Amino acid sequence: MNTEAVLEDLRSRIEAGYPMLFLQTWEDSRWERKLADLALEIERGLVTWTITAGLVPPLTSGNSEPSAWELLIQIGEYPAGHVFLVKDFHAWINDPVILRRLRDLIPELVSQQKTLIFLGAVAEIPFDLAKDSVRIELPIPDYEDLRAEFDAVLTDRRQADEGDLNLSSDDEDKLIKAVMGLTTQEARKAWRRALQGRSQLDDSVFTTLISEKRTLASGSDLLEFYDLEEGVGDIGGLDSLKEWMSRRAEAYSPRAREQGIPLPKGMLLLGVQGCGKSLTARATARLLSFPLIRLDIANLLGSARGESEKNMRSALNLVESIAPAVLWLDEIEKGFAGVETDGSGGGDATMTRLVGSFLTWMSEIQKPVFVIATANSVQNLPPEMLRRGRFDELFFVDLPNFEERKHILGIHLKKRGWKPEQFDVEDLATRSEGFSGAELEQIVITAMIDAFGQGHILQHDDLERAWRSTVPLSVTMEDKIFELRNWAQDRCRRATSDSRVTSMLETEARHESLQIPDDDDDDAPLPAWAQLAHSGQLKAALVEFVRADGDVLFPTLVEAMAPYMEATGDQGLAARANPNTVVWAGMSQPLCELIGELISSKRLYIHPTDIERYKQIQKGLRLPVLKEPTDNRIPRAAWLPSSLRCAPHPVHAARLARVGRMKLAGG
Ligand code: ATP
Repeated sequence: MNTEAVLEDLRSRIEAGYPMLFLQTWEDSRWERKLADLALEIERGLVTWTITAGLVPPLTSGNSEPSAWELLIQIGEYPAGHVFLVKDFHAWINDPVILRRLRDLIPELVSQQKTLIFLGAVAEIPFDLAKDSVRIELPIPDYEDLRAEFDAVLTDRRQADEGDLNLSSDDEDKLIKAVMGLTTQEARKAWRRALQGRSQLDDSVFTTLISEKRTLASGSDLLEFYDLEEGVGDIGGLDSLKEWMSRRAEAYSPRAREQGIPLPKGMLLLGVQGCGKSLTARATARLLSFPLIRLDIANLLGSARGESEKNMRSALNLVESIAPAVLWLDEIEKGFAGVETDGSGGGDATMTRLVGSFLTWMSEIQKPVFVIATANSVQNLPPEMLRRGRFDELFFVDLPNFEERKHILGIHLKKRGWKPEQFDVEDLATRSEGFSGAELEQIVITAMIDAFGQGHILQHDDLERAWRSTVPLSVTMEDKIFELRNWAQDRCRRATSDSRVTSMLETEARHESLQIPDDDDDDAPLPAWAQLAHSGQLKAALVEFVRADGDVLFPTLVEAMAPYMEATGDQGLAARANPNTVVWAGMSQPLCELIGELISSKRLYIHPTDIERYKQIQKGLRLPVLKEPTDNRIPRAAWLPSSLRCAPHPVHAARLARVGRMKLAGG
C-alpha cells in the first residue's frame, strides 16, 4: 500500500472505533505529521505522548508526570473522540500491570470513540491484546512523498543562495527515483550530499545517490550491492546490445509512463567468458541510474523444506523495496544447476520450484526492476527462463570482432592514461583474433607492468610481447564456444550487429590502407582469401581458401599460405583417434595450430583422398602410406592421404573429426 492508501485505511479504522492500532515505522516524525493532518480532517483531537514530554496537550487539571502508568490513567479523562498517538511504548507494554490496565481500558475506549495509536520502530502486539488490536507496517515514502520532500530541498537551496540547478522535469524525475526506498530523512541527506556545491548535474550525482541505497541491502546475505563505475562508453563493441539498451532506458521516463508504455522486464545475456556480460550489467544500471543488486542464487538454498522459497521471497521483497533497481542473476546455469532441463522429471524439485517462483515474481512485479541474467553455457539453463516473453530479449555475446577489439584495446589504454593513437592498435587487433575483452584488457595490464619493471614507458613492443605470452581461452575452449554459437544462432539476438556485414566492412576498410604486393597485372583483384590473409585474418583466409577450391590438398594449402605466414616446418597433424595416422607433415607450428583449431571447431573437415593425386605432386611422400583409416593401432606413423573440405565426410566424419598436432621424429 502506498501512503495515501494507508492513510485512508487508518481513517476508516479510527472512524469505525478501533481501540488500538500498532503502527510500525522508522519515520515517526513524518507519520506524526500525517496523523495530525488526518485527525484535523476527521475533526478529532490529537494528543501525543512520549516518555520525555508526557501528554501533549496536557489536561489542565491533570498531573503531567511523564510515566506509562500516568498515560493510561489520564486517557480516560480526555473528552470522547480523541486520538492518542503514543510513541515507543514497546518498552512498557509487556509489564503485567500495564497490560492489565490496557485490557481494562478497551471497553471505555470503544464506548468513548477513542483510539490509541502506538507508533514506533517496534510495534509488536502482546498476545493478550491481539483480539482488539491491528498491526500495520507503514510504507516508506512513495514517489509523491519524495517529490514534496525534493521540492523542499530545492527551496532550501534557493533560500541559502546555493544557486539554481536548472533541472528539467526528466532530471527531477531521475533524482527522485534514485532515492526511492530511502526514508524522507535519508533521501534529504542523500540529495544534500550529492548536490552540494554543484551548479549542474552529471553522472556522479546519480551514482552518489544510488550508493546511499547500499544500506538497504546490507542486512541481507543474499543480495550484494555494486558500485557503478563503468558506463556504456566503457563497453567496446556490442553496438546492437547498447542501442537496444538505450531504447529500453527511455521506457522508464515519465513521458513513457504517461503513455502507458509497459515497464521493461529484463534481458538474458548468454555468451563467451570475459566478453563483457558483467560489464554490461554494471553499465546498464548506470545508464538507468538504478542501483545494481546481485542475487546470490547459490545462497538461497536452505536445508529445511520451504526455506529456499522463503529466502527467495524475502530477497525479492527487499529488491522491490529498493526499486527502481537492476537485479542481476549471474551465471544462472550454475546457480540454478540441478533444475530439470529435459522434461524428464529428474531434476531437483526445489530448484525447479525456485525458478518457477522467480519467473512468477518477474511476470507480476509492478515496480521498475530490470532483471539481467547472465550465462556462460547452455548446459543446465532452465528452459522456462528461455521461453519467449520471460525476458524482453536474449542476447548472444560473442568474442569481439576486429573493430570491437580495436575499440576495447583503445578503451583500456585510455582508461589507464595512454593515448591509443600512440600505439599500433590496429596491428594488435588484427593479431588478437579469438581474444576476449578480458584478455585484451589483460594484455594492456601485463604490458604496462612489464614496461614499468623494465624502467621504460609503455611501447607497442610491450603490448606485442604481452599478446604473444597470452593464450586465449578460445583456443582451449574452441569446442565449447562453437557449441554455444550454434545454439544461440536461432535463439538469440547478436549483441554485435550482423557479423558478416561488419566483417565485410572491416575488410573493405582495411584494404583501403593495405599495401598489396605489386603483381604484373596491377588491376587483377586479389581473391577474397588472399585479401583476408593479407590483412592478418589467417583463420578466415584458410576457410575461404578451402571453400573457394572445394577440395584442397595440404601441399597446395601450405604453398598458398607461405607468403603470409611461416608455413613450412617440422610439425604435422595426426588423427586424435589414432595418433599413428598422420594426416600431413612438414608444416609450421602456427599453421598446424590454425588447421587443428578449424577442424576441432568443425569449420573444416578432413577427407581421405586418392593417393594418386599426392603422387602427382610428389611431396611429403617419405612416410609410409595408409589408404584408409584403420581401427587397429599400428606401431609407427602411417600417412593417410587426405584433403580439406568445408563439409564432413559421409563415412569418416566422426573418425577424423579431431586432429592433434605432432612433431615428426627425424622429419
Ligand atoms: P564471465 O562470464 O567470466 O564473468 P563476462 O562476459 O561477464 O565474463 P566481464 O566480467 O564483463 O565478462 O569482463 C571482464 C572484464 O573484461 C571487464 O570488467 C572489462 O574490463 C573487460 N571487458 C570484457 N569485455 C569488454 C568489452 N566489450 N569492452 C570493454 N571491456 C571489456
